[in-house]
Amino acid sequence: MIKEPVSSYKGACHCGKVQFEVLGAPLFTQYCHCNKCRSIATKSNREEDKKGYSHTAAYLREKFKITTSDNYLERLPINNSYLYLCKICKSLIYGISQDKQQKKGIGINMSNFSFNTPNIPDIFKSVRHAYYADRIIDIYDFLPKFVNFPSELGGSGQRCK
Ligand SMILES: [Zn+2]
Ligand SMILES: [Zn+2]
Repeated sequence: MIKEPVSSYKGACHCGKVQFEVLGAPLFTQYCHCNKCRSIATKSNREEDKKGYSHTAAYLREKFKITTSDNYLERLPINNSYLYLCKICKSLIYGISQDKQQKKGIGINMSNFSFNTPNIPDIFKSVRHAYYADRIIDIYDFLPKFVNFPSELGGSGQRCK
């Protein structure tokens, strides 16, 4: 059997000082409207991020690497997580939770990827809105909207009406 080559995807902050690469497909991509994500979104200076929710691609940490010097990364502690922003342009690049169960994962801010809507690869298409019950703005799309999280991920599985 021939092994398919694994694709890599690149991204950068708004000013380009911080660049990164991921290997393969994300575990999932989602929008999250929880309080924490909304406050996280306000930390970013990237214009695309000021929208009251997070838009994140979840990866295992080992699939992610910074390809430029990490001198330009600023670490910001917030609610049991660390956020990493570009020191220069203050784009939010990624976050890592300090929860034991989530420590292996990394949430990468979708606004930094070099592909752009509508050219977003299928594997990066968002699968859901999480914590939609806590939203501050309504979203009109066809994605499932969960009160919190799907049950297979430890949530109630309940959908918003
Ligand atoms: Zn930057
Ligand atoms: Zn959230």
